[in-house]
Amino acid sequence: MEFDYLIVGQGLCGTLLARQLINAGKRILVIDDGKPDASSRVAGGLINPVTGKRMVRSWLIEELLPAAIEEYSAIGTEIGEQVVHVTDIIDCHTSSEDKMQFYERASDDREFLNSEDQTVAFQHLFHLPFGTGQIKPALHIKIGTILNNWRNRLDASGMLANATFDLESCHISPGSVSWNGIKASGIIFCDGEAANANPYFHMLPWSKDKGEVLIVSIPGIPGNHIYRHGHISIVPWNDGLFWVGASHDWKYETTSPTDTFRTNTISIIEKWLKVPYRIIDHRSSLRPANFDRKPFIGFHPNMPNVGIFNGMGGKGFSMAPYFAKQFAANITNGAPILADVSIERYKKILSR
Ligand SMILES: Cc1cc2nc3c(=O)[nH]c(=O)nc-3n(C[C@H](O)[C@H](O)[C@H](O)COP(=O)(O)OP(=O)(O)OC[C@H]3O[C@@H](n4cnc5c(N)ncnc54)[C@H](O)[C@@H]3O)c2cc1C
Repeated sequence: MEFDYLIVGQGLCGTLLARQLINAGKRILVIDDGKPDASSRVAGGLINPVTGKRMVRSWLIEELLPAAIEEYSAIGTEIGEQVVHVTDIIDCHTSSEDKMQFYERASDDREFLNSEDQTVAFQHLFHLPFGTGQIKPALHIKIGTILNNWRNRLDASGMLANATFDLESCHISPGSVSWNGIKASGIIFCDGEAANANPYFHMLPWSKDKGEVLIVSIPGIPGNHIYRHGHISIVPWNDGLFWVGASHDWKYETTSPTDTFRTNTISIIEKWLKVPYRIIDHRSSLRPANFDRKPFIGFHPNMPNVGIFNGMGGKGFSMAPYFAKQFAANITNGAPILADVSIERYKKILSR
C-alpha cells in the first residue's frame, strides 16, 4: 500500500499532526520507537498562560488556549476519557519581592492573574510566609492517556510501525519516499530533539534544554489545582501521584537524572510542604528547544516532500494543537503557515 505521508515520531507533535491528517483523509504511517523518556512522556502537560519570572503573557496565548481546549476536548470525546482539565495555578510566593511583582502584574493583567491571597485555604498544606496568588485559567493535559490511546488506535488501523526510522535505509526523491519496502509521497519529521541530527534540518538553530522531574506521592494535597513555588510546580500525574518539576539545564554533562536536581528539589519541597510525601521516581528528558523559541514547521526548500513539525521547546502542549491544524490545512489545501513558525524563515540556511 502506498501512503501519502510517513510521520516519524509519535510524541505530542506526531500524534496531533497524524490526527489532523487522518481527519483530512490522508493515508499516513507513523513510525515510532516507543522511547519511554521522550519529551512528551516526561512532560507535566501544563499550559500556563503566563511565562517566566515576570509572568508576561505567553506568545499568541489568546489564540493557542481556545485551540488547545477544543483539540484536547475533541480527543477526550473520541477516546471516552477527559484528557484536558481547566484549572488554576496556586502561585506560592517565594519572597516579598516575588509577591510585589505578582501584585504589579496582576493589576495589568486581570484576565489571567488574581492577586487575592488564598493563604487561609492552603496553609494547612503548605508553608506560605509570603502568601499566594492565582493564575487562571491554566490547562492540564493527560498526555500519557492520549499517547497510549492513539498508539493503540494507529496500530489497530495499520498506521503504526513500531520501529526505529533510519535515513540510511530510506530513499527520498522528489515526490517519492521508500523505507523498508514501504512507499509514500512524502515524509514529515516529528522526531523531537532527535531532529537536530537530521541532515535535512540540523542547520536550524536548535538549542539544548534538559529537564528533570520527580514523581511523588503526596496523599494530603488535592489534585484539582496546580501548585507553584518559583520554578518548581506540583502537577497532578497518573495514579493519584504528582509530577514535581522541572529543571531547565542548558549545559548538562549527562542526559540521565542527577543527584543535584533531586537534592535541590527535595530541599524546596521540605521548606514548602507541610504534609508527608514519598518520592516514587526521578526522570529526565531533552526538550526539542531552539534559540528562536518558535516552532519549525513546513517543507524543506530543496526537497518539497520532506517536512518538519517540531521545535516546540517547553511549550508544546499549547502550541502543537493550533499549529497541527494549521500545518494540516497547509498540506491539504495550501493554506498559509504563520511566518513566525514557518521554516521558510530559514530558507537561506536550509538551501545551502
Ligand atoms: C521535564 C519536561 C517537562 C516539560 N513540561 C512541559 C509542560 O508542562 N508543558 C509544555 O507545554 N511542555 C512541556 N515540556 C515540553 C514538551 O514535552 C515538548 O514541547 C513536546 O512534548 C515535544 O513533543 P514532540 O512530539 O516534538 O517530541 P517528543 O515527545 O520527543 O516525541 C518524538 C517522538 O519521536 C520518536 N523518535 C525520535 N526519533 C525516532 C526515530 N529515528 N525512529 C522512530 N521514532 C523516533 C521518539 O521516541 C518520540 O516518541 C516539557 C519537557 C520536559 C523535558
